[in-house]
Amino acid sequence: MYAEIIIPLALPKNYTWAIPTEMSEGVMIGMRVEVMLGSNKRYAGIIKRIVNEKPASFNPKPILGVLDDEPIVFQAQLDLWEWMANYYMCTEGEVMQAAIPSHLKISSESVFILNEESHIDGQQLTDTEYIISEALQIKKQLSLVEIQKLLDKKSVYPVINKLIQKGICSVLETMHDKYTIKFENVLHLHPHYKSEAELEKLMNDWSRAPKQLALLLSFLHLQKTEGHVQQKALLEKSGASSAQLKALVDKGIIVIEKRKVDRLAVDLSLGNRNLHQLSPQQQLAFNSITEQMNTHSVNLLHGITGSGKTQIYAALIEKAIQANQQALYMLPEIALTAQMIRRLKQYFGGKIAIYHSKFNPNERVEIWNKVKSGEVKIVLGARSALFLPYKNLSLIIVDEEHDPSYKQQDPAPRYQARDTAIYYANKLGAKIVLGSATPSIETFYNAMQNKFGYYHLNERFSEGALPKMTIVDTKKQSDQSAILTPYLLEAIQATVANNKQVILFQNKRGYAPYIICETCGWIPHCKQCDVSLTLHKAKHLLSCHYCGATYPVVHTCEACGKQSFKQKSFGTEQIEEKLAKALPHIRIARMDLDNVKGKNEHDQLIQLFEQKQIDVLVGTQMVAKGLDFENVDLVGIVDADSLLNFNQYRVNERAFQMMEQVSGRAGRKNDQGRVIVQLSQTNHPVIEFVKDHDYLSFYQFEINNRKHFAYPPFSRLMSILFKHKENQLAEEAANHFLKSLDPLIQKTVIGPAQPIINRIRNKYIWELCIKISKQPQQLQIAKKQLLHFIHLISVHPRYKSVQIIIDIDPN
Ligand code: ADP
Ligand code: ZN
Ligand code: ZN
Repeated sequence: MYAEIIIPLALPKNYTWAIPTEMSEGVMIGMRVEVMLGSNKRYAGIIKRIVNEKPASFNPKPILGVLDDEPIVFQAQLDLWEWMANYYMCTEGEVMQAAIPSHLKISSESVFILNEESHIDGQQLTDTEYIISEALQIKKQLSLVEIQKLLDKKSVYPVINKLIQKGICSVLETMHDKYTIKFENVLHLHPHYKSEAELEKLMNDWSRAPKQLALLLSFLHLQKTEGHVQQKALLEKSGASSAQLKALVDKGIIVIEKRKVDRLAVDLSLGNRNLHQLSPQQQLAFNSITEQMNTHSVNLLHGITGSGKTQIYAALIEKAIQANQQALYMLPEIALTAQMIRRLKQYFGGKIAIYHSKFNPNERVEIWNKVKSGEVKIVLGARSALFLPYKNLSLIIVDEEHDPSYKQQDPAPRYQARDTAIYYANKLGAKIVLGSATPSIETFYNAMQNKFGYYHLNERFSEGALPKMTIVDTKKQSDQSAILTPYLLEAIQATVANNKQVILFQNKRGYAPYIICETCGWIPHCKQCDVSLTLHKAKHLLSCHYCGATYPVVHTCEACGKQSFKQKSFGTEQIEEKLAKALPHIRIARMDLDNVKGKNEHDQLIQLFEQKQIDVLVGTQMVAKGLDFENVDLVGIVDADSLLNFNQYRVNERAFQMMEQVSGRAGRKNDQGRVIVQLSQTNHPVIEFVKDHDYLSFYQFEINNRKHFAYPPFSRLMSILFKHKENQLAEEAANHFLKSLDPLIQKTVIGPAQPIINRIRNKYIWELCIKISKQPQQLQIAKKQLLHFIHLISVHPRYKSVQIIIDIDPN
């Protein structure tokens, strides 16, 4: 027998290995096996197919070992991977790379590290496992080759895999924080005192150390109420010191057990709070969506900001888990998951788990397993949560479905997670609900074509109106250089005086997006990219927002030698500074990529704001999305022009969505909020729609544009990038490629052209954009040609070093 195996690499196709007879009993599709690639590379690959015929053209090498006792992925997942590889024109290996947690991937390059806090119990290890764990204790980390030497055999994956499962070692990942298993101290009464009589005797004998007695009583109380006593909880509750506890341990009254903390374990008592009663409007929406699910697998819930979509999602999820099925709740960004999990945990307690790429590898493996076993019923997560091994998924919610972050840009697979979720739901027979206050044009079009079910919830839960919009014309200001107009400043002051909160939105971080020599006009650029450098004042440096490179602040012009730099435009850092100067008594915080790192910092800031310890939150799009604050009365869009000046066919859509979404943070409870938009292009058509919160008219306007220029949803776009250190070579390759395309397809190509940013990380970029008709055959033909020519270029003597990147349905 032979097996087609997916290796987590960008190989052009899957290869086949022979299944040795002694293994043939144990192997199943979806299991991991160890295979050799080339002469010395070893990988843990996943069996995709098992066949009887030997490949005609070559002699397959044997599989070296089987890692799993049962499949780690289901057939449906493998089908999804295959579809993604075909549709997004990448390899199944790349999809696998993105889809499974790193601890389930092992390769020759892997380094294995000791889990410092793990408990090694020799009794529970086989001899080989013991040898490795001993070596790990001495050396802390081992490479695959070292392990092979230690055991004097080549096939060591199964042993490593067992050690990972037993929590003794993990795969070193430079990208993530080093993982350590968490332990907690759980306290027990010494068995001797389990009998009432002995316990009573103990208490009566107690003459000295009343504090220890008090501690013991607290312990007994906790044990009775909680079932088990955590050291931390006991000390907190009793106010006793660790020394006092130690005394009880030393006397042999209390025994400490080190127990592995199950990171997913949550206080189940938190959950089960009844779901909010749906308002009559919400109930109508819920009923309608549920009914339309009978005829449509995809439904769009179009509910204005603050209409309470989350409540409806929660009710839909409740229904799914009542039927003993699983539900997936997708959010576009990790940043949003923290607030949402706090909201949803109230209802669902321990039935819900978060999953996203910022979790450490072991946490991810734990969730992986619990989703597979069905123990976790609800998953809240970003894109990658789609790849979990759901046992019986019946509902997918794609919240903020319009959000561009659903598209993965780099690396491959460059997939649109919303679209992929639609495909997957159909495949599984699950239902999918897309939700947004500002649906993407494509989604709304599909709803209008009756391809998707649709419900419009047009009232806020609070029954308050949407916020009142005021446009401040920056052209008419007496002080043109002021970033915050007097009107906006006054409104901020009045709002804060009224004990309400403010959000100020600006989509650029840093202090000044560029600096310029006033004498000659020279602008400092990144050495590796065609990008002007942003000034970060507090950090005192210039930084490239494309490659992350930083430079010292320049004072002398490299072109003319003068020292006359001027700062241009402004980012969040400068707004924060100017505001603090203008209104020194208010409490300001900033939320952008420079200021919040990691999921915790972000959430801490949100919680501070929720607790009203901050008056004004200044931020980038991080503050615009999906968050629910009840006390925000005023939103300021500081520089709306910057949202309108993009050379991109989606510019109107993005600008409308961004302004409507950030406006939607105002006045979510009770009073009507207000939004102040600072803007110079006051005649821009999008502004009219924003002013009236008029999505439907905006859609009409925009769909006509799309039709006129044959942009999606009336066509499909594919972008092909050619990247090379030499500009000319990249351009030539793009032209060569274009000329070799079928004349019919050639006609639909825009380019080759240089994108606005035409060099990133020292590589010049040329782009071809193909606009194909919506007929599926057309797409297939185009893709086939593309694959063919990509292959030709990859072996072309002159162009083979040109990097080609294909992006299907680009953002
Ligand atoms: P959306 O996501 O549609 O913008 P949310 O789901 O965040 O709106 O709801 C807005 C606010 O209204 C939230 O604070 C939410 O708790 C509250 N809310 C919505 N529906 C209900 C309900 N049925 N009962 C109580 N509070 C609700
Ligand atoms: Zn100069
Ligand atoms: Zn750069």
